[in-house]
Amino acid sequence: MTYATDTPGNTLKPSAPGLIVFPMTEGDVRKIVTFAAKYRIRVVGKCSGHDQLQRSNGYGVIQLVTTKGFKNISYNETDHTITFGAGNAHADTYAFLAEKKRFAVGGTWAYVCPAGCLSNGCYGFFTKEFGTGADNVVGLRFMLFNGTTLNLDATGPHRDLFWAILGGGASSYGVLLGITAKTYEAPDQFIIMKVFLSVWPTNMTKDDGVPSVFTRFLTNLTWYQTVPDHISWQLDHKPADMNMLLQISYTGRTTVEVATEELSALIAEWTEAGYYQIHGVEGYSDVADFAVKNSGPGAPIRRVSQSIYVDANQEALDKVAALWEMLYSGNFESPVGSDPFDGAFFFWAQYRYGSGSYAGKAPHVARGMRTAMMEIAHENVWMKQADDMDRAPISNMVKELMEPLGNSSYQNHCSSWASYNVYDDYKTRFYQNWEGLTAVKKKYDPCNLYVVQYGPGWDLPKATCGLSSTTSTKRPPPKRPPPRRHA
Ligand SMILES: Cc1cc2nc3c(=O)[nH]c(=O)nc-3n(C[C@H](O)[C@H](O)[C@H](O)COP(=O)(O)OP(=O)(O)OC[C@H]3O[C@@H](n4cnc5c(N)ncnc54)[C@H](O)[C@@H]3O)c2cc1C
Repeated sequence: MTYATDTPGNTLKPSAPGLIVFPMTEGDVRKIVTFAAKYRIRVVGKCSGHDQLQRSNGYGVIQLVTTKGFKNISYNETDHTITFGAGNAHADTYAFLAEKKRFAVGGTWAYVCPAGCLSNGCYGFFTKEFGTGADNVVGLRFMLFNGTTLNLDATGPHRDLFWAILGGGASSYGVLLGITAKTYEAPDQFIIMKVFLSVWPTNMTKDDGVPSVFTRFLTNLTWYQTVPDHISWQLDHKPADMNMLLQISYTGRTTVEVATEELSALIAEWTEAGYYQIHGVEGYSDVADFAVKNSGPGAPIRRVSQSIYVDANQEALDKVAALWEMLYSGNFESPVGSDPFDGAFFFWAQYRYGSGSYAGKAPHVARGMRTAMMEIAHENVWMKQADDMDRAPISNMVKELMEPLGNSSYQNHCSSWASYNVYDDYKTRFYQNWEGLTAVKKKYDPCNLYVVQYGPGWDLPKATCGLSSTTSTKRPPPKRPPPRRHA
């Protein structure tokens, strides 16, 4: 019961779960879900606690934490798939596969779990080439409210549920137990190049009438289309230093020499145009090595985060350039507090989109994740609840500027708590085919017992019935012979 205050990711909660359970076996999960369904108590799964929508908590819930009991990993040598538990983080699966010189598609952050990441796609280093994590899942082990365990896949009798989870989120349908996903041959070495670029060419400012690094390169669709799929990056803005950091990941399955040559060509372009400041090449033995060394240890603290997918459309991209140039004016800095995290306001972009993401098939993943050139986001981090009214309005201002740049966003990068970040259009913003997700919901959770904020079923009456009034896992009583009639 101390969990709600001392576990990362829970510090923001406006309410605490009634009961937190660490099931060790599927039998434990079955006992909990059937008990809860009988008494119409809301149950919700939880892995790392990174969810920014804070959907794994709420008043009166039983929170099922899988990180202790559901961590088995195995590899199928025949079809090269990996099977792991709903309690495994990316760090576990990446490290396991690295020993086999393989990788799986997932998030970049080591301690995020595929269990939650897959709920709206899950992207990372390999997405531009191979699609989202959701596109690469081939099987799910799942438990419904009545204790029924299902093995789901893309073509079987429950394929509707399989695809609904990989886009609509597991927590709206029941409890995820395990995942099976495709793997691919790994590069010899995983290379990251960190490059700093200036906003304006050396010794110039906006007043010189020259293009910014955005219009010349980073929001230029024609230029982006020349960058091959095995090169992607995260862009971190550093307004205080008037520059930006590109963390470029090279995932081509080739030699270090070839990779270095290709990456140097990028540097040469930026140098020639006058934006290049400094760079460093870092070699990692594999993706796990990089992810672990470059991820913070814990789940988020008090923060507001919002994101928008910006389509591969030059008109929209020009508006992004204008917004970023404006944010470099410095008017959007949060007041800095006493804690090192306090007041941190930053904006960033993921360039993980290309032929792989465009071709991905998971049908409920937000439209933008297929069509974007990049996802842009901003975050605002602070520590004290008393500061909410000072800090959140800055986020809201930027959110309003960002929203016209696209109409869909990544639910995994949007926080919505207190009175901030209300998403009236959540059905289309975060998902494709809401009606389809709702139909699956009604079929597999007819009482609407598994409800999370902005997830399928959020707009419907909740906990309308319990286990006894629908299906029961109990065996029916044996039939008795009819009583004898006396003559
Ligand atoms: C620092 C940071 C870095 C990130 N990096 C990336 C990234 O590189 N790529 C990317 O795509 N996303 C990224 N994200 C977003 C991340 O994918 C989401 O926050 C995701 O929801 C986290 O999933 P989780 O299972 O780790 O967290 P949790 O908060 O434990 O769970 C998230 C959601 O999944 C549900 N859930 C978890 N386990 C189960 C289960 N067994 N059964 C049913 N429901 C379950 C929860 O109820 C909740 O709704 C990042 C987030 C943060 C904070």
